[in-house]
Amino acid sequence: MQGQPGKTKVIIAGGGTAGWMTAAALGKVLGSVLDITLVESDVIGTVGVGEATIPTLLTYNQLLGIDEAMMMKAVGGTFKLGIAFENWTDVDHRYVHSFGITGRDHWTAGFQQFWGRGRAMGIAEDFGHYCLELMAGERERFAHLPNLGLNYAYHIDSSAYAAFLRKMAESHGVIRREGMIDHVSRDGETGDLTALTLTDGTVLEGDFFVDCTGFRALLLGETLGVGYEDWTHWLPCDRAIAVQTPSIGPPRPYTRSIAHGAGWRWQIPLQHRTGNGTVFCSRYMSEEEARQKLLDDIDGEPLNEPRVIRFRTGSRRQHWSRNCVGIGLSSGFIEPLESTSIHLIQRSIMRMMRMFPHGGVSTSDVAEFNAQTAYEVEHIRDFIILHYHLTNRSDTPFWRHCRTMEIPDNLCHRMKLFEETGRVFKANDELFAENSWTQVMLGQGLLPRSYHPIADVMSDEEVDRFLKHIRSNVDRTVDGLPSHADYLARFCPSTLGQID
Ligand code: FAD
Repeated sequence: MQGQPGKTKVIIAGGGTAGWMTAAALGKVLGSVLDITLVESDVIGTVGVGEATIPTLLTYNQLLGIDEAMMMKAVGGTFKLGIAFENWTDVDHRYVHSFGITGRDHWTAGFQQFWGRGRAMGIAEDFGHYCLELMAGERERFAHLPNLGLNYAYHIDSSAYAAFLRKMAESHGVIRREGMIDHVSRDGETGDLTALTLTDGTVLEGDFFVDCTGFRALLLGETLGVGYEDWTHWLPCDRAIAVQTPSIGPPRPYTRSIAHGAGWRWQIPLQHRTGNGTVFCSRYMSEEEARQKLLDDIDGEPLNEPRVIRFRTGSRRQHWSRNCVGIGLSSGFIEPLESTSIHLIQRSIMRMMRMFPHGGVSTSDVAEFNAQTAYEVEHIRDFIILHYHLTNRSDTPFWRHCRTMEIPDNLCHRMKLFEETGRVFKANDELFAENSWTQVMLGQGLLPRSYHPIADVMSDEEVDRFLKHIRSNVDRTVDGLPSHADYLARFCPSTLGQID
């Protein structure tokens, strides 16, 4: 029996990004009333990927009081303004899904409706030209602007990020145990988890457990038997191969996602190196073929042996069961196309902390937690399916499958609504807002057949002036930004590799 008397004992199983993000947040906010232990195994290690994020991570940093420049230096980070999608709509086609908003909306109608009128008049430029984040990314410029005038996220070195959070968690009293979990014990009557036994015989007893053991899902899946909902009929990619290369040239402030015949390849620029990988469907491409293609396509010599990661896209049927919450890969996985996993980790941590049990787990909390998580994950899943399904590509069996497969009803409705009216609506608590759906649907080649009548209230001259005004504001702001590389060198030069 370990721990301090009177305090709820929390055991976090696993020390990847999920484990350490959980430990840092719990330690910082509830550390004085909880007794927190994290156990991780150096032998097993972590998944070792997960380097592109989305702007919501800024909220996590703020809640934890993380100094941004300090974090960026420690993780060799770069800023991210969006994702460039190459070869997704057609081979040799490119579009960008950026953060932020495009143009200016009216309360009755999104900017795309006014842009639609401009298109009909033959005067509108590409939709993205009216978006500050997108244009700053294209010109490889970056700076912090007042009032988050430029929306951004980060590219981070995942191991360095976990190490950074570990320091923070330990400074808030979290105890780290190194060791391999051999056995998970349950109460004979209630079925609740009671303890983890390590291979060296150490017993870690707990009142509440967080399963961050990655794809193994040792607690939630293996021990509590919570099933897994398989979504591979919608998202058939089931393998990734990751490899790192040296940086060549200044880092771009965006992630590249380059589609190939049976999936896609990522390129994530850090200050000290580039993260690369391919995501593919093993039904259409062998591991050896994918590995060779990745090595042929990357820029520069690999810094490590390419590593194969096998996965099954889907979600745990419950994310909280009994006295155990699953966070990270143990609770499900949607491929990294829109960098949503770390966001989901953060959301689960915040949700768990809002519903943290006091004097016993409430079944109503459990039901609420599971419903909220499922809703959130399904919305993200649909957004990812959109990229695969809405394509003109039919050059390989993989793309023919994606193009013709059945899709979820909700997604079908969103696409039809956009095609017929140009309208997009965001329901409460959905991650991707109107601008994201619009950018990706337009980018993937879906053009609305009509626009809202509000756009006809303007005269031709007014529409022209309106579009030009937005465009010139975007250009003027981007002109005033320094290069991304210069800004990094000034604001947060990497300290990775330096001795503390
Ligand atoms: P892991 O990193 O696998 O950690 C599991 C932990 O559990 C380890 O510490 C391990 O030692 C421990 N453990 C397991 N079993 C035992 C045991 N028996 N005893 C003791 N310890 C044990 N997300 C993003 O947001 N952006 C991205 O760009 C992105 N890219 C990705 C690319 C790929 C190919 C994949 C597969 C995932 C990607 N993700 C991305 C997801 C992201 O990597 C994960 O969400 C994140 O790393 C969290 O992983 P985790 O902590 O849940 O699991």
